[in-house]
Amino acid sequence: MITGDHEKLSDFLYRFIVYMDNLSRFMSYVDKKEDGCWVWIGGTDVKGYGIFWYKGKTQFAHRVSLLLHNRVKELNPEKQVLHSCKSKGCVNPDHLSEGTREENSADKIRDGTVLRGSKCHFSKLTWDKVDEIRQSSQTVREIAQMYKVADTTIRLIIKGKTWITD
Ligand SMILES: [Zn+2]
Repeated sequence: MITGDHEKLSDFLYRFIVYMDNLSRFMSYVDKKEDGCWVWIGGTDVKGYGIFWYKGKTQFAHRVSLLLHNRVKELNPEKQVLHSCKSKGCVNPDHLSEGTREENSADKIRDGTVLRGSKCHFSKLTWDKVDEIRQSSQTVREIAQMYKVADTTIRLIIKGKTWITD
């Protein structure tokens, strides 16, 4: 074996050991429930999302979970992480996926996390339209007719009960 191979091997081993160390530390904060959810028992932020010390800083546990379980290649704070289960404390990579703000809202609405009922009205709206609605000086009735949705839908959007960002 030539020296170059030794260096490559020790570099690989080093990264592997660091990875295994992070993974075992991560899993020590996970409580696997019977329903399949992995409840985070480590530290959380003020909103209740799990946090984990990773690569020299505090990161969201659900993001690190996707990375450590090879679901994503890197941590990408630009993207939101979507939960397919209803538990925001869950870090099971099978219950998580990366997505955009719009996909995330669609998920929440579909699952009824935001609002039960009147689900069918939401598919007609997009974030652009929601921003327009919030800035509009027209009456609720006028806006509702313009976008062909129920008055209630518009009222909830204006009051900030639906289409909420984290
Ligand atoms: Zn879950």
